[in-house]
Amino acid sequence: FGFSAKTTLQLAQSLYERHKALTYPRTDSRALPEDYLGTVKQTFEMLADSGMGHLAPHAQTALDNHYIRPSKRIFDNSKVSDHFAIIPTPQKPHGLSEAEQKLYDLVVRRFIAVFFPSAEFMVTTRISKVLNHHFKTEGKVLVKPGWMAVYGKEAAEDVEGAKDGDKGQNLVPVREGETVRTESVEAKGLKTRPPARYSEATLLGAMEGAGKLVDDDELREAMQEKGLGTPATRAAIIEGLLTEKYLLREGRELIPTAKAFQLMTLLRGLAVEELSKPELTGEWEYKLAQMEQGKLSREAFMTQIAAMTERLVKKAKEYDRDTVPGNYATLQAPCPNCGGVVKENYRRYTCCGADGNSEGCGFSFTKSPAGRTFEVAEAEAFVRDRHIGPLDGFRSKAGWPFVAEMTLKYSDEDKNWKLEFDFGDDKNAEETGELVDFAGQESLGACP
Ligand SMILES: [Zn+2]
Repeated sequence: FGFSAKTTLQLAQSLYERHKALTYPRTDSRALPEDYLGTVKQTFEMLADSGMGHLAPHAQTALDNHYIRPSKRIFDNSKVSDHFAIIPTPQKPHGLSEAEQKLYDLVVRRFIAVFFPSAEFMVTTRISKVLNHHFKTEGKVLVKPGWMAVYGKEAAEDVEGAKDGDKGQNLVPVREGETVRTESVEAKGLKTRPPARYSEATLLGAMEGAGKLVDDDELREAMQEKGLGTPATRAAIIEGLLTEKYLLREGRELIPTAKAFQLMTLLRGLAVEELSKPELTGEWEYKLAQMEQGKLSREAFMTQIAAMTERLVKKAKEYDRDTVPGNYATLQAPCPNCGGVVKENYRRYTCCGADGNSEGCGFSFTKSPAGRTFEVAEAEAFVRDRHIGPLDGFRSKAGWPFVAEMTLKYSDEDKNWKLEFDFGDDKNAEETGELVDFAGQESLGACP
């Protein structure tokens, strides 16, 4: 639906608190308490009777076929901590907003589907023979819909973003001896595409599953079912990154900013990259579990944390803004002011004098004007030509994208060359200060 994580949590909270239609939403449990079978049956009866045309028949089917049975997959006390999975309550909701209804439907659909039997597929490799050419198709044919019936058509495409020719897609069933009719033949030249950007939904999923990225077995085990953050804090973490301008929201996509890349360069440069990796969380979860089992004392853990903090602060103090180490470029084009060597550093391209290792003449410009980071080749061309553009991908302070040209201009005041945006419009008026003459123009009518 394109809801943000924050909005989703707010809707779930309202469905819980105000409408009493869903259970407690701030949970990461996916199981129900073992004594909940009766309540679940009541809820199914309410749903079957609810008149929600798209869901009631499935609830009725589940009741008629006795699908609601005790099963360790669903009812498991060991997988329930303070709270259990988010499910509808036996209370029929009234007066939901459109957004609340959408979220409620989503939870109810999943709740009903969980009790349905498995969907059955026939995994198929099909060789179609056309003239003397053999074409291989891999996929599956749906035999029994099971729980997928509750989801209707949507579930048929359960390989996300599946395209024709992908493995695992659904195939049309064929009869024995059925012959191929070749309607058209088309050769397609395709290119691979980079992975899609994260949306809030996929980023939440990635945070939840971050443990899978950890190589170490023990740490991965410790992070299992934990991920980064908790269900209650993940939405706020993403909002925080947006507020602090590490991310921009464009439609559903989340786009990392120059500030975000700069931070990663900084962490790598300071050799404290662990702050950017899920291993750190894994390690802490592991140690917390050891404390729980009495294998590690609180004092020992806190000593380690203090030592780590000290190391981080010491590292951060060792460098000032422009000396953070990194894999930086040296430009071929000479400094426009003194002819010296121009080098990239953490934040800027800076003149480093004739030998490339001294203070230089003071010529320097930012690597990321208006939120867009120069490619090295662009910086090269910019210093050489003293002009570049138009380039797109700039962002105003309010976050709007814009296109601009940039020039290096000599400033008498600074006695050096400076980066300036050049929007090209009204250049004459700006320079001459002359007013535009409207005398010869026809009137459009009276001002409303
Ligand atoms: Zn210089």
